[in-house]
Amino acid sequence: MERENVLVSAADMARQQDFTAKIKAIHHQRGQQPKALVDTYGCQQNVADSQNIMGMLAAMGCTFTDDAYQADIVVLNTCAIRDHAEQRVFGTLGTLTHTKKANPRQIICLCGCMAQRKEVADRVRRSYRHVDLVFGPQALWRFPELLYQVYSRSGRVFSIEDEHGAIAEGMPVVREGRTRAWVSIMYGCNNFCSYCIVPYVRGRERSRDPEAILSEVGQLAAEGYKEITLLGQNVNSYGKDLPEKWDFADLLAAIDEIPGDYLIRFMSSQPKDATHKLFDTMARCRHVAPQLHLPVQSGSDRVLRAMNRPYDRAQYLELITYARAVMPDLVLTSDVIIGFPGETEAEAMETVQLVEEVQFDALFTFIFSPRPGTPAARMEDPVPRSEKQKWFDRLCDAQNAISETIHRRYVGQTLRCLVDGETGDSRWPLSARTAGGRLVHLTGDSAALGDYHNIRITDSNTWALFGELVD
Ligand code: SF4
Repeated sequence: MERENVLVSAADMARQQDFTAKIKAIHHQRGQQPKALVDTYGCQQNVADSQNIMGMLAAMGCTFTDDAYQADIVVLNTCAIRDHAEQRVFGTLGTLTHTKKANPRQIICLCGCMAQRKEVADRVRRSYRHVDLVFGPQALWRFPELLYQVYSRSGRVFSIEDEHGAIAEGMPVVREGRTRAWVSIMYGCNNFCSYCIVPYVRGRERSRDPEAILSEVGQLAAEGYKEITLLGQNVNSYGKDLPEKWDFADLLAAIDEIPGDYLIRFMSSQPKDATHKLFDTMARCRHVAPQLHLPVQSGSDRVLRAMNRPYDRAQYLELITYARAVMPDLVLTSDVIIGFPGETEAEAMETVQLVEEVQFDALFTFIFSPRPGTPAARMEDPVPRSEKQKWFDRLCDAQNAISETIHRRYVGQTLRCLVDGETGDSRWPLSARTAGGRLVHLTGDSAALGDYHNIRITDSNTWALFGELVD
């Protein structure tokens, strides 16, 4: 698709601002300051999208609440990656029948990846008649216009066209706090891994202009944000659709020129597009965190082919070996799916053996969840769930032992960490992240919040480190 058709025009963005002003005027005429509730499910990309939704609602004059009975507008920003996530949303929609009864003028919106699925939209149209607006991720930038249609027509609105997807620059945003920020660098995915719903609900890959990203990151660094995470379904294929020659490593190197005391993280990566150039650039850039999340998914070459993941075990190991050679302190994490249709016990154990060979710092482990509309959902799947559960438990036991050992090596070290949270736990009231992204529970004064501090690690367990502020 031509670049000019991917970028939302300034005129179209201005139209959305007009709809925002119209909705604000309606609220004013009603003499109300509306309250909105935005509930986010799923990945960091959804967190970033919700911050745009909150930005648009704030521009409409809304303040925010966590109480659905107080809310005049409720937005559920949903995830379709696993069936469990979808069932939770349907549960929440059920409870919202009561809030709508209590406040008939309440507007209920369903958006995000789940809403983009036609079966879901049809089910909501039929059985959840209290839902007023349904729109997918590609229509996010048109939220003001769609909401205005609900206000003006007092009818239900559905917008889930199967679009290529656009890039809308300049959407308002409400960020959480002033320490960490999410910056989307691209949207969509062209990889069509056979188990994954993302390409069907988030459209084709489209990269933001590098200048727009550099300007946003520059602004955040100038405002004193300490950690900036670059987001994309597959950040490693950044730039493939850009007219000028830019790849992800080029973008990282350009960002690294921006002055300030901040760390850059990024997610998610696809091994097929990970390169030595990227790892060399990460090693050279002082702002880029020594952290890499590189989902391997399986240790069996046959299963990787069935997953339509175009790399094999040897290629993955070569990438890891090179990355660790140029970044000895690299913190490496990954994703693994156990119980893929047709997988045998021997193949599942190849994955356990790979995990033991690589020694990941941490692993996100999942039992295969069939997603309607994906090729994997139509594959023969003879192995019972109970058997897959046994394989899964062996994988988790192996990884837990590895994480425990790796975390123990931190004890006694003093590390520069970003103190970024309060836990409410009297024993360990604060939380922090190491440069590599490891979680630290710590004692100390909350005045340390929002900045980097030296922390002496005094203890550890499988999941986290424990320590005390030393400065
Ligand atoms: S690369 Fe990631 S987002 Fe894209 S299809 Fe594969 S698993 Fe899904």
